[in-house]
Amino acid sequence: MKCALHSLICLIPALTLVAIPARGQSHPVYEPGDVSDTYVKQAEECLAFTEQQVRNMITEKAGFLEIKCANCTAGSQGGQLEWSTDAPDRLTCAYCGHVYPSEKYPMDRVYEHLSPTGQIQSYPYYDGPDGFHHFFQAKIDYHARYYWANMAYNCALAWWKTQDAKYARRAVVILHRMAEIYPGLPIHGLSDYSFRGPMWAGNEPPFPYLSQKLGSTWFYGEIDVDMLQAYDILYDSEEFTRLSAETNVDVRELVKTDLIEAMADFTLTFERHISNMTPSWARRLISAGRIVDRPDYVHEGVNILRRTLNEMFLADGVWSEAAVSYHRQTANGIRSAFTSAHGYSDPPGYTWPPTGERLDDYDPSTSELFLQKVLTAMNPLAYPDGFYACVHDTWAGDRTTPSTQPKSVLLWSMGHAVLESETGPLAAEAQLHFSGSHGHAHQDPLNITYWAYGHELVSDLGYTHTKYRRYTASAAAHNLVVVDETPASYGSREVPWAGTLRTWHTGQLCQAVCVDMAGPPSYEACSTYQRSTVLVNRPDAPAYVVDFFDVHGGSQHDWLMRGSADHDQTADANVPLQPLEYSLLGPGRKLVPYINEGGFDLVAEDAANASEKPGEGARLQFNPYGLIKDLRKAVDLEHFVATFAYVEPDKPEMELHVLSAADSEYYLATAPSIKRCNRDSDRVDQVRQPLVIVRRRGEEGLQSRFTALLWPYEQEAGLGAFSTLTCAGELVGAQVVFGDYTDLIIAPLQKPMQPIALDQFGLLTDAAFAIVRLQQGRPIAAEMHDGTLLQLGDFVLETAPSVTGDIAQASGSLEGSTAVRVSTDRDPGDWPAGTPIHVTHADGAYSLMYLDRLETDGDVITMHVSEPPDFSVDGDETHFHFYPIRTAPGHPSFTMYSTASWSKGEGN
Ligand SMILES: [Zn+2]
Ligand SMILES: [Zn+2]
Repeated sequence: MKCALHSLICLIPALTLVAIPARGQSHPVYEPGDVSDTYVKQAEECLAFTEQQVRNMITEKAGFLEIKCANCTAGSQGGQLEWSTDAPDRLTCAYCGHVYPSEKYPMDRVYEHLSPTGQIQSYPYYDGPDGFHHFFQAKIDYHARYYWANMAYNCALAWWKTQDAKYARRAVVILHRMAEIYPGLPIHGLSDYSFRGPMWAGNEPPFPYLSQKLGSTWFYGEIDVDMLQAYDILYDSEEFTRLSAETNVDVRELVKTDLIEAMADFTLTFERHISNMTPSWARRLISAGRIVDRPDYVHEGVNILRRTLNEMFLADGVWSEAAVSYHRQTANGIRSAFTSAHGYSDPPGYTWPPTGERLDDYDPSTSELFLQKVLTAMNPLAYPDGFYACVHDTWAGDRTTPSTQPKSVLLWSMGHAVLESETGPLAAEAQLHFSGSHGHAHQDPLNITYWAYGHELVSDLGYTHTKYRRYTASAAAHNLVVVDETPASYGSREVPWAGTLRTWHTGQLCQAVCVDMAGPPSYEACSTYQRSTVLVNRPDAPAYVVDFFDVHGGSQHDWLMRGSADHDQTADANVPLQPLEYSLLGPGRKLVPYINEGGFDLVAEDAANASEKPGEGARLQFNPYGLIKDLRKAVDLEHFVATFAYVEPDKPEMELHVLSAADSEYYLATAPSIKRCNRDSDRVDQVRQPLVIVRRRGEEGLQSRFTALLWPYEQEAGLGAFSTLTCAGELVGAQVVFGDYTDLIIAPLQKPMQPIALDQFGLLTDAAFAIVRLQQGRPIAAEMHDGTLLQLGDFVLETAPSVTGDIAQASGSLEGSTAVRVSTDRDPGDWPAGTPIHVTHADGAYSLMYLDRLETDGDVITMHVSEPPDFSVDGDETHFHFYPIRTAPGHPSFTMYSTASWSKGEGN
């Protein structure tokens, strides 16, 4: 068994268990399906140990999973040392091969601990130079204990399949021994998430969050599913009776009280803290409750599940931490836990005291509607090849079945826009991220990723437990603007909505999104921190990206864009490059080394390591910049173009054009790309990716607009020209010329007060966003968002203006009403079904609804929307029904943006 992060998930057996309706005390409650021969084979193998050996190997002492190798620094999270039944008194390092116990690293120190049953226990350890106590023997004990817990289950299944009593005997012996030792097991766990040293706790609750008795991580996993199910399957086996006669103890009763109930009761000493681990805890409580006939456990579990679902998911169904991996873990965990409660009925006459509720033939699929939305909520983040973008702490390689139709999706409550274009060889996708921070988040305001030609061409690095975790989560590892060499703000629960959505346009020619995240969700110093990302279709190639980044505030702006993290790439430029000797920290500065998953973003220049807290007045540096190396600075600059190329043949290339003010500096560099280091801290410097940095410095209050083009291709780039568009001295857009096409993309900082006029094209528009495609100088397609006029010579596209208003009354939540009463600034006129309704709340939060129809009755205007809103407006207050659940004073306002589009062949 070698499970580091998802250890709880790994411990859940892969076998499908089918709950059969409760029949009082009838067992098994969870009837095994077909039992594979593998279980029987492993059960047979474990019989090679004598019963006395089993009893000796299951000790009454603390066991630690995460004891590091003392001989190397490879791997991550104490996952180096392996144990097997071939040599049950040894550990071997999977990386350096060192074997423990070891003369080189002797366990010559002893820690003494008073157990919960009053025994003084001795724990030998090797004292590492970094202060880590290497309890090698306690790690052996840990693995042996979980091996036998697993064998109790395998033997129970083997007996179920073969009815051979020897298997039942072995499983009952294991359960009996576990029940004997469980009361004496000390409470112990991890010191913290970074150093991850062994920790000991006292014997009275409350116990530390990271503690257990049976294991050594979280209490969530304490109730051991293997042993629980073994007990359930074996319940009617005669071996319980036989062993009871031999030992003069009611073994079945002892296992129930001193093991199963004791495990459950231990977990119930903890606060009902809701996290991505609670579904696993709930499932164990529900199963235990059904198996040992404790309805209170079942209700505790169901209650925790409902709270997890109702309090901690955002309105669009996304887990509040907004990381794909944790969303999937939590959503699937809830489904699985609810399944374990399916069909459950309380004993006659029972109600649960805290709520007075009773459950009868419980069917979660009808009572927990929101779960259906949750289960598919993250699907849009999968690229056309099914791999998810690695947003926040998402593991590389997480994958699903991709949708077959391209669909641009705005996960408005998460803060993530997915722009998607075409399928098959022409498929392309860009994602813009603008979430808040509610656990497992990265410093990634307005980060973008881009996928085309079957590859993620612009990457997000995702999750790692290596020593570069701090780097991976930092602003320096994302595609955004770093202001003043400082970390971007992580935000908090107090910043429920992390940006202002300015444009959301889904058209035939392009998809566009524009978000401003000025202030605490990005940088305190910025009054504007805004990105407009536009994915533009091409007739015979995947869509390209034009990207505008506006930053006002601070005195240094570093625009960053990195290539692939999945394959080796090089980057070169169209201008001469001068190699520099130093990292992005600048001359004379050095990286302060990272020693574990932790560390500070701002460290003292002379700190020994990045985990050292900077003292008052220390000279600080933005340490992640120390990992951005191999700097080459562009000289003699006119129009900067970097070309990203894969080292392997037959892969696409990408030109990256960046247009910035004349005083800008342009760099190529390399940085850790993490994904391919195989979770090994010793390999994190071996996998790197190219990136481009465009830097501007100036007086405080610096204003920048970076205009970029991401242009992928297979053989020839085929790009004619890329240039900015200017009106009255302001940058308002960009022009892209290719073949006999010219695309004019209008994306000013804000919706213009006066129409934008581009005289060289005869273009005039008042739109917040517009695009025109010309072929041989004649318009063939045009689209605009939040405007009334788009004119190009003789060609005119006109529409009624956007409508704004107030929401006077709404009754939201899942069981709420789809009728929303509003007042508007003028007669709203006709709007098609499906029109997005952008809602801005008084506390700065944001909601999105979709119109079904408008109904006007005298002065009363009612919007019928596609599903009940996530909020209710009642009197002068707004109540929010999803995470973060709260009440805010004031009424929301709303806007329905005017849009218009035209393409040749549709008339005009
Ligand atoms: Zn090692
Ligand atoms: Zn990230």
